[in-house]
Amino acid sequence: MPNSLQTGRHFLAIPGPTVIPDRVLRAMNVPMVNIYDGPLIDMTMSLMPDLKRLAGTQEGEAVIYIANGHGAWEGALANTVHPGDEVLVLESGRFAGGWGDQAAQRGAVVHRLEAPPRHGVDPDAVEARLREDAGHAIRAVLVVQVDTASGVWNDIAAIRRAMNAAGHPALLMVDCIACLGCVPFDMDGWGVDVMVAACQKGLMTPPGIGFNFIGEKAMALRRERGCMSSYWDWLPRTTPDLYYKIFCGTAPVQHIFGLREALDMMVEEGMDAIYARHSRIAGMVRAAVARWGEVAPIECNIMQEAARSDAVTTILTGAIDAQELRRICEDDLDVTLGLGLGMDATSTFRIGHMGHVNEPMILGTLGTIEMALSRMGVPFGRGGVEAAVASTA
Ligand SMILES: *Cc1c(COP(=O)(O)O)cnc(C)c1O
Repeated sequence: MPNSLQTGRHFLAIPGPTVIPDRVLRAMNVPMVNIYDGPLIDMTMSLMPDLKRLAGTQEGEAVIYIANGHGAWEGALANTVHPGDEVLVLESGRFAGGWGDQAAQRGAVVHRLEAPPRHGVDPDAVEARLREDAGHAIRAVLVVQVDTASGVWNDIAAIRRAMNAAGHPALLMVDCIACLGCVPFDMDGWGVDVMVAACQKGLMTPPGIGFNFIGEKAMALRRERGCMSSYWDWLPRTTPDLYYKIFCGTAPVQHIFGLREALDMMVEEGMDAIYARHSRIAGMVRAAVARWGEVAPIECNIMQEAARSDAVTTILTGAIDAQELRRICEDDLDVTLGLGLGMDATSTFRIGHMGHVNEPMILGTLGTIEMALSRMGVPFGRGGVEAAVASTA
């Protein structure tokens, strides 16, 4: 039964790219400007302190690439990992593994340490693995803060403590593509050497720019060992004598306007309020899932409560056909849900709750899922929306 009205807003509840605020859309809808002189240059410079504050770094440098998250991964590797280097990938879903594949293609020797199924990275296992590497051959440890496939949140501070406990000098490189601007990150405080992010998830800007945040130790290694790429090279981008060197070519003009507006919105709301909003909304999703699961085989993929991310929730549906659920939501009810990624798509779906999202949007999404489950005629715990509301009391 297709939605007979076909009106109102279609809801996008996927974990990126996320809903673009109207303010950001309007800010980007401007004619092209001079890229050699004038306000664009000041606006670009104004992004850097706000981006660094988001990353939690005062000492580090920020680089903006015209690239998606995969490009930002490549940038981080190009400056740190050389053919023959060993890296350790801490897998807890799909994305760290993909970053590791890129390192392997660059000629690195990639070791993988998998988290137990449906759990986050275990810091004790990291410590034990690094102690085995007595000769310190491993140059870098790659990990994601939030894995967008499994829905896990990894405790980066604890992983750093584990590396220190093992007395291991490897770089700690963290992918925050899914969650920068959704959950706290403290690059300097936690001792992260390289952080990678992109603009299209928590930062509410259309896909197209990626970031590297670079600590002193990583930058010193880049100076010492060089970079086999002129495009991804951190050095000219962080010490530009001419504006165009920041982007190694033409600036992403409209993206700069859009990101400036998005960062302004974030400054206005305040980071503490933003993190609290993400945590509240994620709690509403978990409360609804728990209620549905009282009668149906529906549950959060991540088993430990504390390791469930506030940016995305991956939901297992057992024998309930998640593809049919997503189809009804999208085609008939105007809500697009995330598909299971790297997992069985017939028994997994995801709800993105990152960036420009508020209570009515998530209540609408949860209520729509209940409508779809009802239409499918499957038994499920009624009152997920009610449980979501109660979770905020
Ligand atoms: C989305 C995402 C990526 C990939 O980003 P693209 O822009 O699609 O290249 C990598 N890592 C994580 C954790 C992500 O959420």
